[in-house]
Amino acid sequence: MLLNDVHLHEQTEDTIIWKHANDGIYTAATAYKAQFLGLTLSPLDRMVWKAWAPPKVKFFAWLAIQDRIWTADRLQRRGWPNCGLCKLCNREQETGAHIFFKCRFTIRIWKSLIERIGLAHIDTSEWHTDESVYEWWDKRTDNRNPNQQALASLTILVSWTIWNERNARVF
Ligand SMILES: [Zn+2]
Repeated sequence: MLLNDVHLHEQTEDTIIWKHANDGIYTAATAYKAQFLGLTLSPLDRMVWKAWAPPKVKFFAWLAIQDRIWTADRLQRRGWPNCGLCKLCNREQETGAHIFFKCRFTIRIWKSLIERIGLAHIDTSEWHTDESVYEWWDKRTDNRNPNQQALASLTILVSWTIWNERNARVF
């Protein structure tokens, strides 16, 4: 996003205008203030750390987004015992992408929430095109969404609920 501030012209020397200060000059103080405008957030800050959720749930989300929780496919790759099929639908190989946005069970939960809370802009029928948990989570919380921060919290809490339901069925 900050790249928008950089203008390149072949004939002129490069200048960089820092748009968070009236005079266009970068200072630490204006950078500090810019953080509160939400313009300098890294994706993981936006998706996890700046959202509301209990700390341990945020930590779970941080791992899940990076595909670092112990789903069956990851256990299998290490040769460790695993549940194989998704325990929510008993139909497909369990992967992070499957349990968090492709499983029929998960989509049913999201659909009922979308209807109840009135999140008409969310279309679960597009989700199968997302290839990773990161990609899906990013799209659910990027600046094309109204109430970004609320959606980030909702995504974390719904995914946490689904993960707990999965664990209750596995263990
Ligand atoms: Zn499933």
